[in-house]
Amino acid sequence: MKKNYSLQLIEDRGSVKVYKKIYDTENNNLEQPENTEVVVPQVNYLKAAKGYVVGTLNQIIQDPEIEALAEARLTICRECPLFNAYKCDASRTTLNDKGQTVHGCTCNLKKKVRNKDEKCTPLGKW
Ligand code: SF4
Repeated sequence: MKKNYSLQLIEDRGSVKVYKKIYDTENNNLEQPENTEVVVPQVNYLKAAKGYVVGTLNQIIQDPEIEALAEARLTICRECPLFNAYKCDASRTTLNDKGQTVHGCTCNLKKKVRNKDEKCTPLGKW
């Protein structure tokens, strides 16, 4: 199916970018849908690599406090539409509380939930 919109960057918050879908209503005679904003989490590869190492070490060390935090976070993630086989799946989408379409952040959740400094970037659930 032919894409009938383009994306225009409307907000750059560093860890996420917000785009607006601009529909080709003139040529396709389509009504503009209500939900036209898309939130795409941005991957900072250096930060992601550090987080992966911290998460992996915490998986090995198994500190009870970290494990409790990890389980509480995973309980939230398992109920999330973006959760897929312990990944926050970028190919999945859901709506946030502003009605914007949000993509997953690609993170390995078994690692991410074990890093105290991490947060749920796409939806702010933890
Ligand atoms: S990190 Fe947030 S958005 Fe991703 S699966 Fe967990 S709760 Fe959902």
